[in-house]
Amino acid sequence: MKKVGILALQGSFAEHAKILEQLSQKYIFVRSKQDLENITHLIIPGGESTTLEKLLWEFDMWGHLKNKKLNIFGTCAGAILCQKLGLDIEIERNAYGAQQASFIAELDSKIFKKLQGVFIRAPKFKVQNKKIKILAHYKQAPVLVQQNNFLVASFHPELRKDTRVHAFFLTLNSD
Ligand code: GLN
Repeated sequence: MKKVGILALQGSFAEHAKILEQLSQKYIFVRSKQDLENITHLIIPGGESTTLEKLLWEFDMWGHLKNKKLNIFGTCAGAILCQKLGLDIEIERNAYGAQQASFIAELDSKIFKKLQGVFIRAPKFKVQNKKIKILAHYKQAPVLVQQNNFLVASFHPELRKDTRVHAFFLTLNSD
């Protein structure tokens, strides 16, 4: 059975929770390795990837994340962590500029019409592996991609009212 968790150590976890509530999806906030044992789907929020990674090591959660094949949705900093956990893309951190250069833009996507992306010190993705599905672009660069159990966005879907990307994540199946 599907059990959803939101990593709640740092970053925009409360905003992800609001989206799940709009979807009437139950969730737990994940703050320990015991919490990780009880879920099939994990959202890793935006925030600061260096801090998040440090906390995951400190709380002895990194190894569990690496070994347990959870469905993981990483947004922004969360996407950077997904790459470190095995997602086969290259990442350039902060490639869209500093905090003050944050912006909202409409993305190009066949699946999600008129999807808007909020970019805050966002990473740029480079995708070479042909098996990776690119679900949205911004100015020709992939910004929403999926590989098996990983879904990552360089933007912040949790900061808009649009629930479609989260709903899509919830359809991913762990096998
Ligand atoms: N620039 C941040 C990092 O590298 C990510 C920013 C964000 O999540 N909004 O971790």
